[in-house]
Amino acid sequence: MSKYEWIDHTYDVVVVGAGGSGLRAALGAAQAGLRTACVTKVFPTRSHTVAAQGGISASLGNMGEDDWRWHMYDTVKGSDWLGDQDAIEYLCRHAPDAVYELEHWGVPFSRTPEGKIYQRAFGGMTRNFGEGPVQRTCAAADRTGHAILHTLYGQAVKHQTEFFIEYFALDLIMDDDGACRGVTAWNLEDGKLHRFRAQTVILATGGYGRAYFSATSAHTCTGDGNAMVLRAGLPLQDMEFVQFHPTGIYGAGVLITEGVRGEGGYLTNSEGERFMERYAPSAKDLASRDVVSRSMTVEIREGRGVGPKGDHIYLHLDHLDPDVIHRRLPGISESARVFAGVDVTKEPIPVLPTVHYNMGGIPTNYHGEVLTKKNGDPDCVVPGLMAVGEAACVSVHGANRLGSNSLIDLVVFGRAAGLRAAEILESGARQPELPSGAGDNSIARLDKFRNAKGGTPTAQLRDRMQHAMQTNCAVFRTGEVLDEGVKKIAEVYAGLPDIAVSDRTMIWNSDLVETLEFDNLIAQAAVTVNGAANRTESRGAHAREDFPDRDDENWMKHTLAFFDTESGQVTLDERPVHTYTLSNDIKYIEPKARVY
Ligand code: FAD
Repeated sequence: MSKYEWIDHTYDVVVVGAGGSGLRAALGAAQAGLRTACVTKVFPTRSHTVAAQGGISASLGNMGEDDWRWHMYDTVKGSDWLGDQDAIEYLCRHAPDAVYELEHWGVPFSRTPEGKIYQRAFGGMTRNFGEGPVQRTCAAADRTGHAILHTLYGQAVKHQTEFFIEYFALDLIMDDDGACRGVTAWNLEDGKLHRFRAQTVILATGGYGRAYFSATSAHTCTGDGNAMVLRAGLPLQDMEFVQFHPTGIYGAGVLITEGVRGEGGYLTNSEGERFMERYAPSAKDLASRDVVSRSMTVEIREGRGVGPKGDHIYLHLDHLDPDVIHRRLPGISESARVFAGVDVTKEPIPVLPTVHYNMGGIPTNYHGEVLTKKNGDPDCVVPGLMAVGEAACVSVHGANRLGSNSLIDLVVFGRAAGLRAAEILESGARQPELPSGAGDNSIARLDKFRNAKGGTPTAQLRDRMQHAMQTNCAVFRTGEVLDEGVKKIAEVYAGLPDIAVSDRTMIWNSDLVETLEFDNLIAQAAVTVNGAANRTESRGAHAREDFPDRDDENWMKHTLAFFDTESGQVTLDERPVHTYTLSNDIKYIEPKARVY
């Protein structure tokens, strides 16, 4: 008999993750009368969504004319034509209603003098199919994520979602037919193990920014759900597309929102030049994030960086009215003071492109259902499994996400997943017994690490992985550098059997948590760098110096990556991009050169 005992639960829906996407999905399922649990490793309102600053996009037209079709055009263009256009249509068409829903639930948006929701300009958001900037990003000062997360948590509690807080989800429970039947989790507080049986599991576990050394994301952003999917033998999609945000605070990585440039902030080099005018004559500092990050990197490389080492860039807001800064950007003023010692009303902020968002993730359709490739069908639904939020790849962001399009993705597709669950599930329906040995894989994994008495501390391996990703899978890439990255990551993976975990207890064992998280991260690092080495073109955030052009003929397709946990081997496959829309209101947007 195992030395562990399972505590078993049965729900209609189990959501893993209590960020914006998980809470919105849980709320939808609970509202539909489905018995819904939400399992989360951090307290819901500490989920990373709390850090989102600038805002949430929706074509409300409160600050000038706007149209969801223009939003769709911008998102397709932003994605560098790798986004699935059926899903992008769904996102942009439903965005306004999703924002009004948040408003009615109590999100304290900033207001225009007439009392409407305040909207600011963000990179790549334009009017009339690319003509000029539009104010589309709805903001609650520079604390939009905080406001949304707290509101959604209140609503989820009100609608009887049952929360399992500080439970660390370990693995999916899959049956022999490839359907998901539930999920296993470890209660960090008392060390007990739980099996959650469900008609549907919804993964909402966020991104994996912490595979890199310098990231704007929290220490908890380790993509655990993505790794659970890989261990279940399912693929991740488009993992080579990692977004670098242009303005992380130099040395600290803390984010300064794009909303700063939306309010009139701009970048300068060591010559005091507003260099973005050269790279993006029309959009300038509000070009898409990949374009601005690359331009900054070129400036630094060509010797026009600022600071004693010439290795960063300045972001100016010192020309703005201090009252505007105080009202609209209070959070970033504090961040700049604490992390860079800068008074933004008087001095520029030192900034550097920093890892910020993962376009890749768990492939889904626009209902949130997880997809895999089976018998040649690239859009085969995995029964009993959904994914939403940054963990998912719907794909609406394609090769590059536009700022403020993540928060709207969370609520539009969180809602869609809830609606789908309501449509296909029956409340309280009888569920088959769990497959025999359900959860044995989780116990084996826990035991492997609890008994790990090797010579390499987890932190050392993590450090090697993070530096390899930062150096070998960065803003600019070449085949040579990426191949070296593939090798380095494989070497780190090969170091796993020699890992040392100091603490064997199951209660609040942070060393064990960090080891499980590292084990999750390294699998994602491997599929990311392998996917990047394989894609011989430049598209969106994937900028190959040896293949500088986009190659639609050979590469307008999604990468699917599978991972073999035993060997550490990555296998790559592909899925076609959806080149159709959902309705006659809008036609497929044909690819063209992407200039700003
Ligand atoms: P998260 O909010 O990251 O939540 C993940 C959840 O999963 C957490 O509840 C966590 O506890 C849970 N979880 C993870 N692993 C496990 C596990 N093993 N077991 C149990 N639970 C687990 N986007 C915009 O659109 N606008 C912005 O202004 C904006 N600003 C941003 C600012 C910053 C600093 C950053 C880093 C990102 C910003 N983004 C913004 C992006 C956006 O905030 C994120 O993409 C989004 O919040 C992710 O939400 P999520 O629900 O997918 O995941």
